[in-house]
Order: sequence, then structure tokens, then C-alpha cells
Amino acid sequence: MKIYDKIFINGVWVQPSGQDVIDIESASTQEIIARIPAAEAEDARLAVEAARGAFPDWSATTPQERAVYLDRIGAQLKERSAEIGETIAHEVGMPLMQAIKIQAGSPRFTFASYSKLLTTFEWQQQVGNSTVYREPVGVVVCITPWNYPLHQIAAKVAPALAAGCTVVLKPSEVAPLNAFIFAEIIASVGLPKGVFNMVTGYGATVGEALVSSPDADMVSFTGSTRSGTRVAELAAATVKRVALELGGKSAAIVLQDADLTQAVKATVSTCFLNSGQTCSAHTRLLVHESQYEEAAALAKKYADAYVVGSPLDEATTLGPVISHAQRERVRSYINKGIEEGAELIAGGPESPAGLDKGYYVQPTVFGRVDPLSTIAQEEIFGPVLSIITYRNLDEAVEIANGTPFGLAGAVWSADEDKAVGVALRLRTGQVDINGGQFNMLAPFGGYKQSGYGRELGKFGLDEFLEFKSVQFKR
Ligand code: NAD
Repeated sequence: MKIYDKIFINGVWVQPSGQDVIDIESASTQEIIARIPAAEAEDARLAVEAARGAFPDWSATTPQERAVYLDRIGAQLKERSAEIGETIAHEVGMPLMQAIKIQAGSPRFTFASYSKLLTTFEWQQQVGNSTVYREPVGVVVCITPWNYPLHQIAAKVAPALAAGCTVVLKPSEVAPLNAFIFAEIIASVGLPKGVFNMVTGYGATVGEALVSSPDADMVSFTGSTRSGTRVAELAAATVKRVALELGGKSAAIVLQDADLTQAVKATVSTCFLNSGQTCSAHTRLLVHESQYEEAAALAKKYADAYVVGSPLDEATTLGPVISHAQRERVRSYINKGIEEGAELIAGGPESPAGLDKGYYVQPTVFGRVDPLSTIAQEEIFGPVLSIITYRNLDEAVEIANGTPFGLAGAVWSADEDKAVGVALRLRTGQVDINGGQFNMLAPFGGYKQSGYGRELGKFGLDEFLEFKSVQFKR
């Protein structure tokens, strides 16, 4: 068992002020694999103080100087990518090869992309008699979830550092081990002290202390809509800038002229990626009434083909969900779906055969789901797909937009122009057409209760910058 007993403040690993610890479990074996500190409000205060102290010098560095540090971090992330993938396979439960590719690969890409952007970004522009400067927003608190833990960290820390901000990171207490590797990397690349700080622990204690700190200028939060609402309330007291990346209930609309096989196959695949624990997963499959039977048969075929098992087994295509609490939550939604009269096409609430240890859930598909029922409205965060039928295009758009969320979506059609027309009617931050791949440079974020603000690429850098207009008498 790995023991981490320090947090990272002002360039050094220090003992937290209290004695409390958090045990970290393997999602697939339920064994305790590590222990981390549960830091307290006093630690949060010290971390913000360190970040505040480092801000004047760091914000005065040139973009080129900051790019050098980002490159060094990127190189170390590459060097340690197998270790990062393995760590996340244990703590989150994603199959190892996918974890190495996605969970370890994406942070590396993010750091490299911001280093590159720093060489071309326009830090000032002329508007009439004004020069408009872009300046770092200040001390940024980054609070991250467990599902793509290091991706979320990188999507905040890389642009914040690139902008010239200093950072306090509070990673998820459920999957924090990757964050310790990340902090070790930061410690090894010679970043000036106080520019990056990390305190670990619970949201209700250390998280709230950070968000409430009068010395922090911004909070960038990714997590559930419930916690995000609380963060925004607390941050309002000191008028902090807030970026929120929250939950989703995204719909894939399959038009009648689409390749149905392709559309169903891809939707099942995005829905079940990371055992359904993806905020932008397409969890509602919308098909025309006349194509329901065919779509249901295809969805069953693809769901039943998943091999559920240990993330370390090469044959596995679906790992466990992250925790006991998460499995109970997913099971209760599956039971709710049955109770509310949806047709259970594949899977169910019982553990998959032969897997009594580990938080496994069967890949589950519901058919003829009422668009207003619980499983069609709420984020389940497990491998559960709902097939909903529509009678005409207007109804399909209305159903797709008919939840409190607005993160992502998909449109499938043989006619790309028609698909774009539908995409523009969706109140979501992302829409994939005919299986369009995730773009790490395009803005990512939500409408409605999926949050506000955007991450990744140039738009993600803008989040951490202020405008300053300087006028000249002409
Ligand atoms: P969560 O809200 O429970 O926790 C997220 C983080 O917030 C953790 O670090 C937690 O300690 C902290 N936190 C919790 N309460 C807090 C509070 N009162 N003050 C300050 N910090 C607090 O979410 P989770 O269970 O870790 O992650 C799953 C959720 O995240 C899902 O709803 C998912 O959709 C969402 N998510 C969204 C995106 C996105 O980009 N939109 C990406 C990944 C995950």
C-alpha cells in the first residue's frame, strides 16, 4: 500500500496541519491501495497564500519562459505515462490500454498544445485609441472530479499556468493518486515555488475553504451540478470568477436516413466508455418510431458483446464503476427504470456473473423509455443507455433539449447539411456529427445546468485572462 502523507505547498512537500487521512480503494478489487492526507482549512489558507506570493513574479514571466516549463511537464507526463495509466486503471477502473491512451495521453497533449499556443497567442490588440492587453486573472483554485482525473487537472492547470496565473489544485478525494504523480512531476521541473500548490481532502472542508478564500481570484470547477451550485454560491461572496464544468444527459439523434447500424454501435460505445462515467456520454439514443425494433436489437447485440472484468485483463472492454456508492447509485437507477416501465433490453441491476469482488455493473440498455422518466432526465454515470422514440424531427429536438443539462449531443444523417441544421437547434456546447471525434483544441463546456465557461485550446486560455484597456489621447 502506498502512503502519501504530505501536501505540496510553496514548492515543498509539507505535513498537513491535521492527522486525518483518506483510504483509496481499487475499483476492481476493493482493496485499499493507498492513503492520502485529508487536509484542512488551514492548509487551504497556506496554499492560497503561497500562490498569492508567487503571482507577481510568475505573471511577469514571458510566454516563452512559461512554455519551457509546460514542455518540461509534458515531457515528464510522457515519460511516466505507463505508470499514470496503471494508476488510473486501479483507482478509476478503466481498462488499462484505454487508460494509457486516454487518461495518460490527453494531459500530455494538453500541456504540449498550450506550450505551442503561447508562441502565437496575441497578448494585446489595438481597438481605436485603446491598446487592449490580456492579463492573468490571478490565483486560481482548481477543483477536479474522479472520472478523467488527470485530464481534468491538465485542462485547468496547463492553461492557468500558460496565462501567468498561479494555482492551488484540490483533486478528487476518490481518485487522487494520479494527482500525486502530477505534483511530483511539477516538483521535478523546477517551477518557481508557490506557482503550483496541491492540497488533498474533502470538498466540504478543504474545497469550501479554497472557494471562500478572499485571496483567490478564480475557481475552475469540474464535478456534479450539486457541488458546482454550492461552489458558485460560496464564490459569489467575494465576487470570484467561476468556471463550472458539470453534468450531462446528452442525446444522439438518429435521423431516418442515417446508417442505423453505425449510429447505434457508436452511441453504445460512447455511452459505455469508462463504464458510463463520462460527463459528455451520449446516454439517450433517439430513433424514429419506425426504426425502434431494429435499433433495440442492434443495441442489445453491441451491449451484450462487452467483456466485463478486471481493467488489467487484456480481454476486458468494460471495467467496474469507481466505488460502492457509485454502483449503488447506478443500480438504483436501473431499478427505477424497471419500476417506471421502461423495457429492459440488456443487462440489469444484478452483478455480472462471476464478479463478486469489485464494483461491476452489467452493460444495460433500456428501450421505449419515456423522455420525462427519471432515467431519461437524470445523470446516471454508469453503463446505462436509454432508447427513446420520436415521431418527427421537431419532437426529436424537443426531447433532446428536454432535460436540465446541455453538455453534448450527436446527430446522425446521410445528409450532412441537414445534420448541421439539427445540431444548431440543440442547446448544448458540443455536437458530434456522424461520429465526429473529440477535438482537444475545440472549446468544451456546457449550456444550461451543465455549467458555464469553456476548456481546452485557445478558448480555455481565455478563461484565465482578464482584459485591460489602456487609452491614448489621439
Ligand atoms: P463531485 O461534485 O462530487 O466532486 C468534484 C470535486 O468537487 C471533488 O474534488 C470534490 O471534493 C469537490 N467538492 C465537492 N463538494 C464541494 C464543495 N462543497 N466545495 C468545494 N469542492 C467540492 O463530483 P464527482 O463525483 O467527483 O464527479 C462526477 C461528476 O462530475 C459528474 O456529475 C460528471 O458529470 C461531472 N463531470 C463533468 C465534466 C465536465 O467537463 N462537464 C467532466 C467530468 C465530470
